[in-house]
Amino acid sequence: MKNGIYLVATPIGNIGDITLRALEVLKNAAVIACEDTRVTKKLFSLLGLSSHDKTFVVMHDHNEGETAQKIIDLASSGNIVAYVSDAGSPLISDPGYKLAHLCREQNVYLTTIPGSCAAICGLQLSGLPTDKFLFAGFIPNKDKARREALEKYKDVAATLIFYETANRLLKTLTAAEEIFAGRELSVAREITKLYEECRSGTAAQLIEYYTANPPKGEIVLMVAPPSADTFLVDYREELAAAMRNASLKTAVKDIAGKYGLNKNEVYQTALELKNEL
Ligand code: SAM
Repeated sequence: MKNGIYLVATPIGNIGDITLRALEVLKNAAVIACEDTRVTKKLFSLLGLSSHDKTFVVMHDHNEGETAQKIIDLASSGNIVAYVSDAGSPLISDPGYKLAHLCREQNVYLTTIPGSCAAICGLQLSGLPTDKFLFAGFIPNKDKARREALEKYKDVAATLIFYETANRLLKTLTAAEEIFAGRELSVAREITKLYEECRSGTAAQLIEYYTANPPKGEIVLMVAPPSADTFLVDYREELAAAMRNASLKTAVKDIAGKYGLNKNEVYQTALELKNEL
């Protein structure tokens, strides 16, 4: 195995999801860079690996700048270095980006040992379109920032994927009800764990469910693209009414704007309705 830096994915809930390559690298690495030594030593113990003979280096969001170079120096001086985050794929809403960037700049061997990633697992479970998706990481916690973050992606023609926490879910769904009116949302919770659940519906339906059944655990929230195919509310009646009171062009613009839909798709529906009126 070559000296250098190995970005090693670890399970997001089910220990059985560790890969054979991850085990090999974790066994052979002299240096383990991680976010939290307690979490990573527990992982070693669950995997039946010894951690006594390893040098541990802690790299988290707050010290990545200084620590990344130290880790690169350890690799350059002839070590196999594994970087693991607390769970899932490093760098994906986890530290490691600066480390990878410096490796590229300094021509240090860097490779990935792929595995679980909650964003991808959530997308697979959601039943939403997978041909185009946009991963937008964590949704901010403050009301104004949360709204702005969601608004920013409203018109993106792709499934949106966010990381969310259980205690913030209802606030986010409330903001989403207005911003993504009529679109299908999907909440994937506790993926690969005992109480794995994936629930889809409009924001209003999900608010009703999670008010009655307060969510627990880790969550991926997804939003269907602004396309008539994935739209849950039938806007045709509203469009027909708008066409009676305004020009076809204005009616299409108003309805597409209200629901964040693709104008061409609404236009096609308007043409069909025009023939029926
Ligand atoms: N790097 C990780 C990955 O590849 O998935 C993500 C790390 S990020 C700090 C943690 C967030 O990922 C959680 O707050 C949650 O939104 C999501 N997440 C992680 N594990 C999950 C799981 N088992 N089920 C649902 N979401 C999960």
